[in-house]
Amino acid sequence: MSNEEKVSITVLLPGGRLPLDIMDTALQIARKYNLGIYLSTLQNLRLLDVPLSLVDEVKKPLAALGADFKAAGKFPIPRVCVGRDHCKLGLIDTSDLSGKILSHFAGRKNTKAKLKIAIAACALGCSGIGTSDIGIVATRNGYDVYAGGKGGTHPKSSRRIRKDVSEDEVIRTLDTLIEFHDLKTATKQRMYKLLDDPDFPFAETE
Ligand code: SF4
Repeated sequence: MSNEEKVSITVLLPGGRLPLDIMDTALQIARKYNLGIYLSTLQNLRLLDVPLSLVDEVKKPLAALGADFKAAGKFPIPRVCVGRDHCKLGLIDTSDLSGKILSHFAGRKNTKAKLKIAIAACALGCSGIGTSDIGIVATRNGYDVYAGGKGGTHPKSSRRIRKDVSEDEVIRTLDTLIEFHDLKTATKQRMYKLLDDPDFPFAETE
């Protein structure tokens, strides 16, 4: 058995959608190189046990299909619930809002790590709104925005900082939160640590 180091390659899947051509190619690659496939908790597709020397070879056919790969500094892909078209409680198309957010932040480089964003199409928040650094929830009157949730060994519930705001206001809120996180973070940091900073830009809303 080879002692070569093995790594994972994560294909980013905006909106939690797995395009069929990428799924098909990932399956072929996994069979060819005897890799595992893991669907990550952040809704991405991870190829497991890739020998270091084969990383470029494995990525190439996926990149040719337009696949984007996880890398340090990339803006985080929001985790979404399945949304209006596939859940009777859903108020919005979560994939569409995720796409608008990703498009707004497309040119952003060096986003600090440990920042997770979640979007839910109703107040049940199936995508983990309460335990994400930034949570966006559709309401009958717009969107609520939450900040400061996390899971892990010491979970924290997020706090609502905007209530019934418009989609444009959601994007402006994200701009403010992410710039603040950037300003106050050396390399990586969960948002909850900043909630009680005297300069935190939003108060809790009832
Ligand atoms: S958050 Fe609401 S709309 Fe989204 S999947 Fe859960 S119940 Fe359905």
